[in-house]
Amino acid sequence: MNLILFGPPGAGKGTQAKILQETRGLPQLSTGDMLRAAIAAKTELGRQVEAILAKGDLVSDDIVIGIIAERMQKPDCARGAVFDGFPRTIPQAQALDRLLEGKGRKIDLVIVLKVDDAALVSRAEQRVKDMIAAGKEPRADDKPETVKARLGVYYKNTAPLIDFYTGQGKVVVVDGMLPIEDVTRDIAFAIDRKAK
Ligand code: AMP
Repeated sequence: MNLILFGPPGAGKGTQAKILQETRGLPQLSTGDMLRAAIAAKTELGRQVEAILAKGDLVSDDIVIGIIAERMQKPDCARGAVFDGFPRTIPQAQALDRLLEGKGRKIDLVIVLKVDDAALVSRAEQRVKDMIAAGKEPRADDKPETVKARLGVYYKNTAPLIDFYTGQGKVVVVDGMLPIEDVTRDIAFAIDRKAK
């Protein structure tokens, strides 16, 4: 099964993708993680995208489509994958359809995690505190002003994808305000119903 975890920054996509990776053996394909890894490794790609991530803007479609296409060729994606933070634009969604079509596959399910803006802002603040308490460097884009910019980008560029996938009958909306275990249960329910 190929599924997309969709929602604004801080909705819990990464948390739930990791759970699905453990429980279902579907690899988590997070373009955000891949870009942060490139930045940490100081690769040419990392240098190109560092300032863009720090501002909360979107990296170009060509770059993210390139990294996801490469990742999808790895053997662990043969049974499907959980897409986390990709696609974020209509051209990315169209490219993903083409990449999957090439393997005789398609997106089976799009889980939309719904979370209030106020909760997203306070989750980012909490993430910064947790990272500092753990002696780690907080994410540069979890600063309050950058979180607001990321939310603006989400509503402008990414939220329209909900209509794109609703038109294909693939969307299930899950209440992302619930405790993590309840969100996990609701996602599991949606996947199992789809798999029947
Ligand atoms: P995330 O970890 O998914 O919140 O992504 C962190 C940042 O990486 C985003 O704010 C963007 O700057 C960049 N990014 C991640 N995925 C994409 C994507 N699919 N398209 C464009 N930019 C992306």
